[in-house]
Amino acid sequence: MMMLCASLGASHATRAPQRSRRTRGSGPSSLVMGRGAIARSADHPTRGPDARPAVVAPPPLRRLRVPCRAGLSVGGPTDGLPVSPAGSPPSSPRCSVETTDFLVLGSGIAGLSYALAVAEHGSVAVVTKAAADDGCTRYAQGGICAVLDPRDSVAAHVHDTMVAGAWLNCPEAVAAVCSEGPALVLGLARLGAEFTRAAVPAGRGRDGGPGGARAASASPIPPLHLTREGGHSARRVVHAADATGAEIERALLARARAHPAITFHEHRVGADLVLGELPGGGRACLGADTLDALTGRRTRFLALSTMLATGGAGQLYPVTTNPGVATGDGMAMAARAGAPLEGLEFVQFHPTALVAGEPAAADGRAFLISEAVRGEGGRLLNAAGERFMARYDAARMELAPRDVVARAIHAEMAAAGADHVLLDVRHLGRPAIEAHFPTIAARCAAMGLDMAAAPLPVAPAQHYMCGGVRAGLGGETALPGLWAAGEVASSGLHGANRLASNSLLEGLVFAARAVAPSAAHAARAAAGAAPALAELREEFLSAGRRARAAEAERAARDGPAVAAEADSAAERDAAATRRRLRALMWRCAGIVRREADMREGLEEVAALRAEADAGVAATARPGRAALELRNLAAVGEGVLRAALARRESRGGHYCVDFPEAEGAGPGAAAGERVPRGRPA
Ligand SMILES: Cc1cc2nc3c(=O)[nH]c(=O)nc-3n(C[C@H](O)[C@H](O)[C@H](O)COP(=O)(O)OP(=O)(O)OC[C@H]3O[C@@H](n4cnc5c(N)ncnc54)[C@H](O)[C@@H]3O)c2cc1C
Repeated sequence: MMMLCASLGASHATRAPQRSRRTRGSGPSSLVMGRGAIARSADHPTRGPDARPAVVAPPPLRRLRVPCRAGLSVGGPTDGLPVSPAGSPPSSPRCSVETTDFLVLGSGIAGLSYALAVAEHGSVAVVTKAAADDGCTRYAQGGICAVLDPRDSVAAHVHDTMVAGAWLNCPEAVAAVCSEGPALVLGLARLGAEFTRAAVPAGRGRDGGPGGARAASASPIPPLHLTREGGHSARRVVHAADATGAEIERALLARARAHPAITFHEHRVGADLVLGELPGGGRACLGADTLDALTGRRTRFLALSTMLATGGAGQLYPVTTNPGVATGDGMAMAARAGAPLEGLEFVQFHPTALVAGEPAAADGRAFLISEAVRGEGGRLLNAAGERFMARYDAARMELAPRDVVARAIHAEMAAAGADHVLLDVRHLGRPAIEAHFPTIAARCAAMGLDMAAAPLPVAPAQHYMCGGVRAGLGGETALPGLWAAGEVASSGLHGANRLASNSLLEGLVFAARAVAPSAAHAARAAAGAAPALAELREEFLSAGRRARAAEAERAARDGPAVAAEADSAAERDAAATRRRLRALMWRCAGIVRREADMREGLEEVAALRAEADAGVAATARPGRAALELRNLAAVGEGVLRAALARRESRGGHYCVDFPEAEGAGPGAAAGERVPRGRPA
């Protein structure tokens, strides 16, 4: 069964191999007959019980029976415009429309786990900006939280999360994540994620040793090793050595790629959300417009429910642990579509990114030295060799929350005029270091650093956006039809700062929570969506025709070479402006902020934003750099506005002019949501 017609023949789309074989030879005519992805897969050999995703499996909702209209079944060779109409440059890309029941923007932990679960309810298009595994998830090292040790408790995890969040968290969101998380993390293991197992001493059966996840012993999953990180009062971090995210991404991706209802569209940059009117329901999100980063082709994805899982905005800063895809696109798209953002002032700076000797990654990504290194006993030393955390947080030392440690390092660096402090793990011994941190040790070794022999040079780097698109307990945003999960969202879990290893978990839990409401919304919307979708299709295709005509005219007037040069000059300008923006953000909205700097920064960033908006508006076919700049500038402006509005210091926002937290503590602020940042 299906809700809406899934289209065929998308360029750069990759599907499960079995499904491709089965659909070979089918074409638009089969869609007219209503044989979409789910209908086709009903007898698919991989859809037996064993093939079902184990991450989240809510009971299937009522299947939808929407007559498929030929007019909606576009995509592939017959849609849009001819490849090379007379008069247009042969390289000029055409545009197309794809229809799907569920659109997922992003393929990290949030997007993939949602896609796997919602695929039980209809066809799913996963649209992702680069290669499917490129995102923060893949780089996560330390682990994912789950209360699995009987000596630990959900209440303790809740408390630690609230303390790290400076009591600005949404208690319901925290309770949901901490209590629902363990089952979902074990679900990841069942799905195939190979987490590090607890050592099982002889004679102890499957219960595991200290730190082992005994709760898992009742299931077929072997006891998992649990590590500890800053801010946690217990060992509760499930990990795959020091490359947890890569393992989770691998396992999810393998399942999603094999799922017959899921289609992948890689190297597609979501540019803007598509809005339309549903009968009786008012304005709703009905998909997204995208740019193929490889060919320049524009595709409008029309969908009944859209999940925003585009991750964070680390590229807003010149020093970040985030990969190049983290440009705040989802946040900016949502804000432009009218879904408010909140909590943007709470930017988490990770205390320990590697500094010396590192060749700068092309996307400016700094290599992270995981929190788990301090969790296992790593010590921070200043230039004088002093273990300085004793002066900042004597009780928690190196395991104080990240904002505390990052500011302490910042102060030590400033006092010494140094660009780093030292992280010393020599006392752990080479065997323990290499067993627990093989990826980090290997990366350091590749740079000529032996972490078992000498302390590592480290400094803070932007790491995580605690704020984002305001989302409710089911991942719903203010815009009907739009859900948000993972780092793009502000679920209320993190409050003013994120507890280590809570973000992978947040993505997993809210993706699962969004399945039932988004499927129910799709079921309701399907009944009356056809006219709106047909209109949106026509609107997009005729805009594409106009753009091509304008391009052809420009090429005829200026010559194709001049037109192409103008386009690449626009992209180069966008890249240069991005560098200015990042420098401004580091200076004005960094680890330690000053009101005067923020005011000055806001003025400049607002001007950059206007410039970036104008740049996109002036171009019929803006490229990826221009689209990303527009988004980064919008989020940057949002960060500064929210930071200026907060007349206190709290969590990830520290302003020297207002150094105290207002009414900090459980009594004063518990229960409040993060006050909304001004929509970007
Ligand atoms: C180095 C590092 C280490 C970390 N370690 C940990 C850890 O140990 N534990 C923990 O809990 N958290 C950790 N985090 C944070 C955590 O990895 C992220 O917050 C989490 O993975 C976010 O998942 P996500 O699915 O929301 O987004 P991501 O995994 O970032 O995925 C976002 C996806 O959206 C796509 N995308 C972006 N823009 C667009 C667009 N315009 N159109 C289409 N697609 C788009 C991207 O290509 C990507 O596929 C770490 C982060 C980093 C950078």
